Amino acid sequence: MIRALIAAALVLALAGCGVVPRPSMDTAGADTFEDDVRTARTLGEEFWNQQFRQLGRTYRPIEAFVPYAGGSGPDCGDQPAVPNNAFYCPIGHFIAYDERWMEALWNEMGDGSVYVVIPHELGHAVQAQLRTGFALNVQLELQADCYAGGTLSALVGSGVLGTEEGDADELLLSLAAAGDPTDDWLDPNAHGTAEQRQLAFAKGYRGGVGAC
Ligand SMILES: [Zn+2]
Repeated sequence: MIRALIAAALVLALAGCGVVPRPSMDTAGADTFEDDVRTARTLGEEFWNQQFRQLGRTYRPIEAFVPYAGGSGPDCGDQPAVPNNAFYCPIGHFIAYDERWMEALWNEMGDGSVYVVIPHELGHAVQAQLRTGFALNVQLELQADCYAGGTLSALVGSGVLGTEEGDADELLLSLAAAGDPTDDWLDPNAHGTAEQRQLAFAKGYRGGVGAC
């Protein structure tokens, strides 16, 4: 059912269907933006904790989740934080996000946006711990999208997150909105096009994080 929904939503989202309702994904009654951020973080980290344990490894929890406003975010090495972004910083092992930007996404696209952005950034933290050897940024970005899809399908599968009609659209639209305008895959900042990001997410959603 959810798989069919994802496939259908992929087609819809790619066709540019932008009108979505605002369902709630969490089953624990988290309703505010802050609750959703906390829930996405907690459930995402619990998921990776288990995955690492199954591999006989130890997951290292994120040191801090740092909300910031506009241009006043924390630096990552010599890289300054930019407005309208969320990022993982391996130096200090933290995740930072422009709080107003993420809350605007949450308002416009529903809570699914938070459940994509945070698992995506956690995916980068996992890459840092597993040291996946991709050379191109776009490969790292698409793998993080795939990890986000795999994380969410596992959480939905175990019942800690619920999906309602419209959730899949919400998730995929969040990715479409974050896609690069062109497929310039040598660009060091490339994240992949809307279509590439949605396909990567769907791959993880269908096949689990092992497929990433
Ligand atoms: Zn990324």
